[in-house]
Amino acid sequence: MIKFENVSKEYNNNVRALTNVSLDIRKGEFVFLVGSSGAGKSTIIKLLLKEEEPTEGKIILNDMDITKVRNRRIPYIRRNIGVVFQDFRLLPNKTVYENVAFAMEIIGVHPKEIRRNVPMVLSMVDLSRKASSFPDQLSGGERQRVSIARAIVNSPPVLIADEPTGNLDPETAWEIMRALSEINGRGTTVLMATHAKDIVNHMKKRVIEINEGKIVRDEQKGGYGDGI
Ligand code: ADP
Ligand code: ADP
Repeated sequence: MIKFENVSKEYNNNVRALTNVSLDIRKGEFVFLVGSSGAGKSTIIKLLLKEEEPTEGKIILNDMDITKVRNRRIPYIRRNIGVVFQDFRLLPNKTVYENVAFAMEIIGVHPKEIRRNVPMVLSMVDLSRKASSFPDQLSGGERQRVSIARAIVNSPPVLIADEPTGNLDPETAWEIMRALSEINGRGTTVLMATHAKDIVNHMKKRVIEINEGKIVRDEQKGGYGDGI
């Protein structure tokens, strides 16, 4: 589903963010991407979203070589990936319902399908009661669940979560992990960048660790730091 073949990335200031990274994530996997700040996690995510281009190497997403995809087809790639960010990135002037519906409107989904799918995903993340609330009326965990609903409403095969629990207390973080696990259980491939050692150690999923732009560990049922 996601494949990096000898990918290197050098930013304009000659910072080598990634060196010869190869990885292969199969459909339906749940993978933690771990490593200290500056290790290269966000760069991997930006390359997948085509916000940055690799200096060398090849990136395959859902059987498509995205390094060869022309700019006008970028929206098509982004439909294949749902993204959840640490800071939620919800539209403050739209309700919960509208935030999720908007993700479908901008890609031209038929209104009938929008009316059917939005309530369905809101119920999946247990937010049906909050459909008419605005983001600032929600708790952090609820906001993150809205952003998860928005990320999956178009049924992308891949869900990327960049530090999704970074702004949440531990209990709320587990709520988010339950939601991500459930989505993964329905067949979505999940790649989650995180520093949250407790979560990684408890989930016993595949762990890819990156350090100074190189993959230093790739383990099934791995851990991270103290308590392995
Ligand atoms: P992480 O997400 O693991 O914290 P990043 O991928 O953000 O790591 O960063 C990897 C390296 O690339 C760091 O040295 C960082 O300073 C550098 N870097 C990240 N983004 C840019 C950019 N836009 N321009 C220049 N250097 C960058
Ligand atoms: P239209 O397709 O004409 O926009 P919709 O039924 O999709 O009609 O929605 C109209 C408005 O009603 C939306 O902007 C949304 O805010 C609100 N709305 C629709 N369904 C719900 C719902 N289940 N919960 C809360 N608000 C809703």
